[in-house]
Amino acid sequence: QLYNQVQDLKGTIRVYCRVRPFLPGQSSRESAVDYIGENGNIMIVNPLKNGKEARKVFSFNKVFGSNVTQEQIYVDTQPLVRSVLDGYNVCIFAYGQTGSGKTYTMSGPDLTSEETWGVNYRALRDLFQISKTRGDVIKYEVGVQMIEIYNEQVRDLLVSNGSNRRLDIRNNSQLNGLNVPDASWIPVSSTQDVLDLMKIGHRNRAVGATALNERSSRSHSILTVHVYGKELVSGSILKGCLHLVDLAGSERVDKSEAVGERLKEAQHINRSLSALGDVISALAQKSPHVPYRNSKLTQVLQDSLGGHAKTLMFVHINPELNSIGETISTLKFAERVA
Ligand code: ADP
Ligand code: MG
Repeated sequence: QLYNQVQDLKGTIRVYCRVRPFLPGQSSRESAVDYIGENGNIMIVNPLKNGKEARKVFSFNKVFGSNVTQEQIYVDTQPLVRSVLDGYNVCIFAYGQTGSGKTYTMSGPDLTSEETWGVNYRALRDLFQISKTRGDVIKYEVGVQMIEIYNEQVRDLLVSNGSNRRLDIRNNSQLNGLNVPDASWIPVSSTQDVLDLMKIGHRNRAVGATALNERSSRSHSILTVHVYGKELVSGSILKGCLHLVDLAGSERVDKSEAVGERLKEAQHINRSLSALGDVISALAQKSPHVPYRNSKLTQVLQDSLGGHAKTLMFVHINPELNSIGETISTLKFAERVA
């Protein structure tokens, strides 16, 4: 086993906080982030109406400021990704309100520029490179699935025939992470293969989106990478699985304003994000009962949460003062699972 350095992370949950920079054209540059400490601390400052300020410190495994590059983010993600080649199951989540940088972290802003590639492409590039260097010892096969969960329904994003039927979840440890066996499973061997598939996935995800209500912020998307390795001498088999999850926006929707479809979406999102929080915090506390059955999201990921699996949650926050309510609720969620 080459990646012994991650052994001690087995079964643990890591939480990284990432602060988005101010975006070009934003008029106010007043920040809700007072400072970012060395040891994973972040202090939030909230100006009160009476002229005073409320301050609160939150602590995580790491906090990345707004100037941290995609490359630097990946350096701290790489050990978990690589452990998949040793047969581990890993889940990496992006959590945060819409516009906080979840898709930026997972995919990046622009697929044509490798420099800004997110965790998804860097992880696959890494897996291909390492499996090649181990080629004399282990023969690896890598395949991907891409699904979305929208209104508690699971759909395949890699369908070629355009049929977008809802899929069943079958929790069967025999399948080792293949909990949605009817979703397309596509073998890949280069980052170009992955880029081509992601384009299909993004196109399928856009179906049904309206300008006002962008589907991608209302659904969870899961890119699952299955790794199957065969040791050439002994013939023994290892299986690992990496789930890269771009979660639905965590913002609370004003109940007085949301009606119809919008209200239904919001209720499904709230329920599934709190189910995820419940599962991760039960695992962190080593609780004997882990409530996987409360959402489709936690059912799909069941084999890769807990046990010997490893979990990394990126929580994203906006720097703007007018997002402070959401920022604090995001940080509280993150503290609960850390
Ligand atoms: P989300 O997926 O959470 O809704 P996005 O990833 O789409 O948010 O980010 C919202 C906007 O902010 C996009 O224009 C994105 O390019 C930009 N952005 C997010 N994070 C960063 C970052 N770390 N550096 C530069 N721009 C960012
Ligand atoms: Mg997004």
